[in-house]
Amino acid sequence: MTDPLNQSPDNPTSISADAEVAESLGLIHDRIAAAASAAGRPAEDVTLVAVSKVQPADRVRAACRAGHRVFGENRVQEAMQRWPDLRAELPEIRLHLIGPLQTNKVREAVGFFDVVESVDRPKLARKIASESEVAGRRPACLIQVNTGEEPQKAGVVPGEAEALIALCRDDLGLDLRGLMCIPPFDESPAPHFALLRELARDNGLRELSMGMSGDFEEAIRFGATMVRVGTAIFGARHNP
Ligand SMILES: *Cc1c(COP(=O)(O)O)cnc(C)c1O
Repeated sequence: MTDPLNQSPDNPTSISADAEVAESLGLIHDRIAAAASAAGRPAEDVTLVAVSKVQPADRVRAACRAGHRVFGENRVQEAMQRWPDLRAELPEIRLHLIGPLQTNKVREAVGFFDVVESVDRPKLARKIASESEVAGRRPACLIQVNTGEEPQKAGVVPGEAEALIALCRDDLGLDLRGLMCIPPFDESPAPHFALLRELARDNGLRELSMGMSGDFEEAIRFGATMVRVGTAIFGARHNP
């Protein structure tokens, strides 16, 4: 039997990647547990989405070997190259799409991802609904909210979020679970986390995907149920 997780014995970088990634994952889990406990929440309320975009394959395999199973990718194409082998071996792996989704990639995304976190406009929501029907497969969805109303950033603006929630849930029958945000890099994230929490609460949505390497503990204080952590687990990304 072939095992894609099996490292070659003559690959020392892979051995040190194993130790490093396992240690980082352990530390992040400890920090999540402490932040949850400080907020009076059970640690199991918070899912760690390990953001593997652009990371080398040996580090991603190391996370799998350490027992991690939930990963985030921001590009459909990159994810579809990286994951099929690992997922064949470990069917319990769950993949979240956390990056912007073009309508011409929806068919592939619906067939491939377990969670689409970046639903942010009616046209995209409609396409996800129709392709889900064709595929007979319905990914869980989150609506991305552009809480900072930044013109260059994806996400629905807060003022239009309720209409999009209603469209997704009531008209299109998407499996809508919650909301996601990426606060502006140059501002304190707290008001943005608070706004997302309030929007979710007002609309009866449970999941809150917020918090990254630099601010996931604060996000947990504000009720995050999914934190998306990349560099703090895998190390710095070397963008191509
Ligand atoms: C890259 C990325 C992350 C992870 O960022 P880190 O700072 O590396 O933890 C989280 N969310 C989204 C949407 C991303 O694109």
